[in-house]
Amino acid sequence: DPRIAGISSSIRVIPDFPKPGIMFQDITTLLLDPKAFKDTIDLFVERYKDKKISVVAGIEARGFIFGPPIALAIGAKFVPMRKPGKLPGKVISEEYSLEYGTDKIEMHVGAVQDGERALVVDDLIATGGTLCAAIRLLERVGVTVVECACVIELEELKGRVKLGDKPLFVLISST
Ligand code: 5GP
Repeated sequence: DPRIAGISSSIRVIPDFPKPGIMFQDITTLLLDPKAFKDTIDLFVERYKDKKISVVAGIEARGFIFGPPIALAIGAKFVPMRKPGKLPGKVISEEYSLEYGTDKIEMHVGAVQDGERALVVDDLIATGGTLCAAIRLLERVGVTVVECACVIELEELKGRVKLGDKPLFVLISST
């Protein structure tokens, strides 16, 4: 798609953030470019508008930027998947491992119903640990995860492999 090149060139790479050796993909510069931002959302909406998706689950924090405009455009609800201790109501949570230690994501009890069809949205997939935890959380309460959608995939980290047979759609694969 000819729109991908513009989206790709709007993303800035910051070396050594948040620690030495990491090349951080900074999507805030994509947000500064209204055409690139709109093209990003349009590409996802075109793919998901007729897939009977009732839930867009967005992962904190940058899944909260891309998820809601997709949800509005396809007529789905938006459900935030948050870091521990942020959601005020009763939550269910899933742990996942990091390079050192573990982390958790949480979702409100009652936000989704058994039998719903979800799209999980984040800005980027690296090792895939975060998306896998989000999928487990949704599947535990009877939701079908139709696909995961990210703007960027860091191909070398093999997150796609960790997702197994769960479909992953990305706009940009970075090596
Ligand atoms: P994973 O669990 O796949 O290893 O890491 C993905 C999570 O870390 C996503 O929520 C993503 O926002 C964040 N992340 C990791 N590296 C980067 C990066 O280079 N740029 C951005 N924007 N997010 C990153």
